[in-house]
Amino acid sequence: MKDSKKAKSSFQPEPEQMALWPDISGNTINGLGEREVRPPSPILWHDSDMLAHGDVQNWFWAQGSKEPELLALRNRRQEVIDRPAAPQAKDKEKMEPAKASAQIRKIALETGAQLVGFVKTKPEWIFEGYEFDHPWIILLGVVMDHEKISTAPEVTSAYEVVEKYIQGWIAARPIADWILSQGWRAKASGGPMAGPINLIPPALEAGFGELGKHGSIINREYGSSFRISAVFTDLPLVEDKIDAFGADEFCVQCQICTRACPVDAISDQKVIVRGKEKWYVDFDKCFPYFAETFGCGICIAVCPWSTPGRAPKMAEKMTRKFKG
Ligand code: SF4
Ligand code: SF4
Repeated sequence: MKDSKKAKSSFQPEPEQMALWPDISGNTINGLGEREVRPPSPILWHDSDMLAHGDVQNWFWAQGSKEPELLALRNRRQEVIDRPAAPQAKDKEKMEPAKASAQIRKIALETGAQLVGFVKTKPEWIFEGYEFDHPWIILLGVVMDHEKISTAPEVTSAYEVVEKYIQGWIAARPIADWILSQGWRAKASGGPMAGPINLIPPALEAGFGELGKHGSIINREYGSSFRISAVFTDLPLVEDKIDAFGADEFCVQCQICTRACPVDAISDQKVIVRGKEKWYVDFDKCFPYFAETFGCGICIAVCPWSTPGRAPKMAEKMTRKFKG
């Protein structure tokens, strides 16, 4: 990671950005301190018109548009997102869930995903204000190049993020198309927009890993160095299981991301958010910096689990120590 021009002690958000901030805290919208489980409220990465922070989100997009290479990548991503889906066959093919799951896994791995998982939809994952009637979620993970993301908070790190969002769509589309060709419903979904589902909780339940102190998932193979896309469907599948291997316990002792965050946004203690105790990143502290650095990502880059080749050994050690 290069030295940031916006170093920890000196970062002051641009007044132009802060003038666009609403009075309400993003943490309040997120449900920080709320003890009841409830669906998440859209806060970013939805249509700007429906967000309290919509003007701030637009400002973020506008900053990136000033960087020609980033803009070109974003345009390429939009072309991939806009590709039309295959038509749905009239008759549903009857299929064993195990066979369907195996076929989807095969397509995903062939089209560039490294992680695949299946879960049944839970109402608490659906963003407020969205209709969602797909009983199954297929989660896909696309691994990022660690060297490239380690250039965070430089714009070059954002190039890699956009590239991997593109790859996420490239992996999701053929799966959705194959399901449609079998007569079942399917819809591909991927970044940067969040869509109807908060994908982190289902990805955790699909066995992608554990939630880290930096607010991203830690996978036992790839650390936090991956992006998620998804396919929503009514095709019955075989549900995956949570994979707990000691990352949570590791975070209790580790302070690397907490110290590396230029704006002290990463809480060292778990907090209650919408009825669940979890690690939490302070939205109001993180996003001004995130918006001025094309998506920051320092916390993902510095996480020791993200160093290529390191996670499997760490997972083995932590599993021995904490999971018996
Ligand atoms: S992305 Fe946010 S939480 Fe992570 S290091 Fe950057 S400012 Fe801190
Ligand atoms: S840097 Fe350390 S504390 Fe932060 S998420 Fe990674 S392991 Fe957890």
